[in-house]
Amino acid sequence: MTVFVFVDMEGISGISGSDFVKTDGRLYATGRRYYTEDLNACIRGCFRGGATAVIARDGHGGGNHVLWEDLDGRATLVQGPTGTVRLAGIEECQALILLGYHAMAGTRGALLEHTYSSASIQNMWLNGRPVGEVGIDAAIAGDYGVPTVLVTGDNYVCREAREWIPGVMTCEVKQGLGCQAARLLPRETARRMIEDTTAEAVRRHAGIEPLRVARPVTIRREMIERGAVPSRAESAAFHIVDGRTYETTAETVERAFFG
Ligand SMILES: [Zn+2]
Repeated sequence: MTVFVFVDMEGISGISGSDFVKTDGRLYATGRRYYTEDLNACIRGCFRGGATAVIARDGHGGGNHVLWEDLDGRATLVQGPTGTVRLAGIEECQALILLGYHAMAGTRGALLEHTYSSASIQNMWLNGRPVGEVGIDAAIAGDYGVPTVLVTGDNYVCREAREWIPGVMTCEVKQGLGCQAARLLPRETARRMIEDTTAEAVRRHAGIEPLRVARPVTIRREMIERGAVPSRAESAAFHIVDGRTYETTAETVERAFFG
């Protein structure tokens, strides 16, 4: 079986603020190392749990932060922007892991909470329910019939994952103490937990249902800035709600997401 691992940076163990996750941040070089090391722990867990192949998606920002020379040589790696395909290669996979994720925009107390862009998106909804990256990405995998088996990150994203995805396993590597603060587990403990919960989640994958949502699918975005709402001329699929808010409706989550 093949496992897709989507790795984001904010929920990686050892990362406690934006200096680690911005390419011009003071601690970015350290952040990249932690990111690659959590990914390696997850890849080890995948193979221990019965995977025969792993597709790792370098998913933070521009998608080019993994230190390739340090990556477990058994995984293939997807880097860079992939246009209107969120999970390139997911159709080959039987399970999705969301590694190093963060809570949705506005989650009080959560480390580095945001939804896709802290600069532009205030809030998102999927079929009327407030949603973050965990819910959207799990539902896109659901378009392909693939279950999300594990989410790792702080206590807030783990709670959000359990609310959205019945049966998902979670691995809490830190406690959020605000947007730029966290209490971190010891390094060895965090990495061992990631490897062990990954192995267990991969073993259980056939018993976890893909996240399915009602169709057609409507995604609403409330933007931070006035003028960020696209004009209806850009796509007939856009429904403009007000000066900061618009919706897109489509047959799949992925198409509603990309408009
Ligand atoms: Zn990120």
